[in-house]
Amino acid sequence: MKTNDSTTRLDFIRAIVAEDAKTNKWGGRVVTRFPPEPNGYLHIGHAKSICLNFGIAAEYGGLCNLRFDDTNPIKEEEEYIESIKQDVRWLGFDWEDRLYYASDYFEQMYQYAVQLIKAGKAYVCDLAAEQTREYRGTLTKPGKDSPYRNRSVEENLNLFERMRAGEFPDGSRVLRAKIDMASPNLNLRDPVMYRILRATHPRTGDAWCIYPTYDWAHGLEDSIEGITHSICTLEFENHRPLYDWFLNELGVYHPQQIEFARLNLSYTVMSKRKLQQLVQQGHVSGWDDPRMPTICGLRRRGYSPQAIRNFCKRIGVNKFNSTVDIALLEHCVREDLNKTSPRVMAVLRPLKVVIDNYPADKVEELEAVNNPEDASAGTRKVPFSRELYIEREDFMEEPPSKFYRLAPGREVRLRYAYFITCCDVVKNATGEVVELHCTYDPATRGGDAPDGRKVKATLHWVSAAHSLKAEVRLYDHLFTKENPDDAGESEDFKSNVSPNSLETLVSCRIEPSLAGATPLSRYQFERLGYFCVDPDSSEGKLVFNRTVTLRDPWAKIQKAQKNR
Ligand code: ATP
Ligand code: MG
Repeated sequence: MKTNDSTTRLDFIRAIVAEDAKTNKWGGRVVTRFPPEPNGYLHIGHAKSICLNFGIAAEYGGLCNLRFDDTNPIKEEEEYIESIKQDVRWLGFDWEDRLYYASDYFEQMYQYAVQLIKAGKAYVCDLAAEQTREYRGTLTKPGKDSPYRNRSVEENLNLFERMRAGEFPDGSRVLRAKIDMASPNLNLRDPVMYRILRATHPRTGDAWCIYPTYDWAHGLEDSIEGITHSICTLEFENHRPLYDWFLNELGVYHPQQIEFARLNLSYTVMSKRKLQQLVQQGHVSGWDDPRMPTICGLRRRGYSPQAIRNFCKRIGVNKFNSTVDIALLEHCVREDLNKTSPRVMAVLRPLKVVIDNYPADKVEELEAVNNPEDASAGTRKVPFSRELYIEREDFMEEPPSKFYRLAPGREVRLRYAYFITCCDVVKNATGEVVELHCTYDPATRGGDAPDGRKVKATLHWVSAAHSLKAEVRLYDHLFTKENPDDAGESEDFKSNVSPNSLETLVSCRIEPSLAGATPLSRYQFERLGYFCVDPDSSEGKLVFNRTVTLRDPWAKIQKAQKNR
């Protein structure tokens, strides 16, 4: 058995799994599952659950199933099923041949319900929805028994069979567990197990017109699959007594349900229902918009699976709801991309530079380092010529004292190339600087002066004639508030959608080595940040998404948090 990194303490779930292994509680087995409801795309919160379930299985020599919890026929779609499979795989996990659907167990679940009816533990109830609510009572007031609670076993069996056969209209009857209408836990006040609903299910079609509720179905799914540790989020803590009641009354195999705190991230909403609203109401371009916290959105943004897995490991698991600073996620992304992304030069807002003393017809291929963090990445050639582009913000005609980059009369280094000195500024009719004239020092080839003189700045650049045009999309948080759900009185979270979360730059220039770069490949644009090729790119036009900037505020935030 492989255990966790011995220097890190086991989290409370791994401690349970380790203890169970020691006492041989499950006969040496560890079986977990990731059970998405296929009603939307997966988000970074799901990644936490995926890393936890697949991670524990791998660490303890066990198995993790992928199970679609498709008990609700109304909101589920094939599109979501395919995307979920793709996203779990992309994150680096493999369910092998263990892909299951809750709907495959519908007949078995029905038989279990018949068993409970026969044991006098379930009954058909004819109360209307509104009455059912009234009879349930409140947290402070016990409920009242339904007038149908004492139907005979025969009558219940007969009615339940006829519910299945489609003899009654939608919503007219339900099957309920007979537990305790006075229980302080509302989930135990005769919860509904089946409702009548005529809806075509994506997998079972019209075979059923009764559908199981989540509480009834979930434990059965776990039991049928021989799950050992059924890991779910905290909101199900109050449902655990019901999970246990159903399995105990049936006398079937009984996994252990364990709850942990779900992931919340600042500046982010994390519910499929809300994410769907953003898509449907056009606040974003789709589920995979690079501003979305969905796995497909993060992928398109340039996040790597490794970075997401590292993040999930860093945040750990515990029992208390809290909000993780999105800066930590971005820190993990930078940490990973710093090691893995090739460096290239790109100019987002180009300013033309003419090197007056450089021959017009000359082109030099200068050597540039692909990744200073990884010597095996080697070097490449970058063309240098008389006309270049530099970043507009790297020049100021009247620089303040702290500005060390290019200015009239000042010398700077062009990375991997030469020292240049600005000797003239060309402006258009409105006074805007449109071109710089510079001279270069041929003795500084490669970027160092043999006489030892220093410059205070090193700029990135591209050759005007050789560079490729590109579009670059810069992103900011999708919401203006740290907690987007905090939206005043009448408005909802969407009133906090930021109007400035996307800036599109259409006349960027990138070095020619990026010709033919494939969608989703990731780069560091020197001095600018990490960027990823967007699938919108075409033969003649590359489109990039900025994944993150280079500046990492995480260390500072962490220090401030410690001092609080
Ligand atoms: P949402 O509220 O976003 O729709 P959900 O819980 O309804 O989420 P499911 O498809 O039921 O989504 O979730 C599949 C699994 O992922 C469940 O085990 C659930 O507990 C877990 N999960 C969902 N959201 C989070 C989260 N934010 N953090 C950790 N785990 C999560
Ligand atoms: Mg759900």
